[in-house]
Amino acid sequence: MLVTLTEMMRGLPELNAAVPAFNVFGYEDASAVIAAAEEVGAPVILATNKVALRYMPLQVSGALYRSLAERAKVPVCIHLDHGDGFESAAEAIMSGYTSIMYDGSQLPLADNIRNTREIVKLAHACGIPVEAEIGAVGYTDPSMNVEARLTAPGEAKVFAEETGVDALAVAIGTLHRMEEQSAPIDYERLAEIERVVSLPLVLHGSTGVKDDDLHRLAATRISKVNIGTALRMAFGKTLRSEILNKPNEFDRVALFARPMEAVKEAAKQKMLLLNAHQALNV
Ligand SMILES: [Zn+2]
Repeated sequence: MLVTLTEMMRGLPELNAAVPAFNVFGYEDASAVIAAAEEVGAPVILATNKVALRYMPLQVSGALYRSLAERAKVPVCIHLDHGDGFESAAEAIMSGYTSIMYDGSQLPLADNIRNTREIVKLAHACGIPVEAEIGAVGYTDPSMNVEARLTAPGEAKVFAEETGVDALAVAIGTLHRMEEQSAPIDYERLAEIERVVSLPLVLHGSTGVKDDDLHRLAATRISKVNIGTALRMAFGKTLRSEILNKPNEFDRVALFARPMEAVKEAAKQKMLLLNAHQALNV
């Protein structure tokens, strides 16, 4: 069942649950994530990040993920992650995405507000919700050229009020592409943001979050939790061992079977930590 981000996030804080948004790169991981959601009984978000965007045109990924979502027994939202402007937002909406992120986090506040507002105007006219970022979640990889900055609660309040976004990504200690679960979560900062912003909040770089922190964060206003690296590692490591263990196998369908299973299991584990299975009652 295909849904928008707003439909999916309705009522989540009261349920002490959050929905994971998994970065996917094609049929194999997208179908494994949906299989995980169906087994757990949880809604799920399929996200297209910058790398996936360069790999596959949005029209192709949109058509693929929409058809998977429509066949799914659980609610599925299709999300553009870290969109860089008006064109990619418009293209994603035209390609059937049901949620858009615009990331102006590297811009001065006034420019981020102005650009986000324009994208909100476009997306809302099409019935599509918008996530934007205030503060900046950095990367472990310095070549990404993203300057990390923890979210200032006062700025978050102004940004939420001025832009009309539907969900707000905040920087509270995580980094993108962390391979170890060691992010120091700034709960005090999160509580201050929660006091001044009434929107659903989004956590990026969540592979780096410890299991008990993920569980604790599900009970806060954090409603969407982005996870990419954990699934990429599950797929890549299993695929490597399959290739090494089966030197005479060349059939991709056979080689992908165990990696897809590994992605499904990794996704299920994160869903359960986030209480995502409680979110179906929304
Ligand atoms: Zn992100």
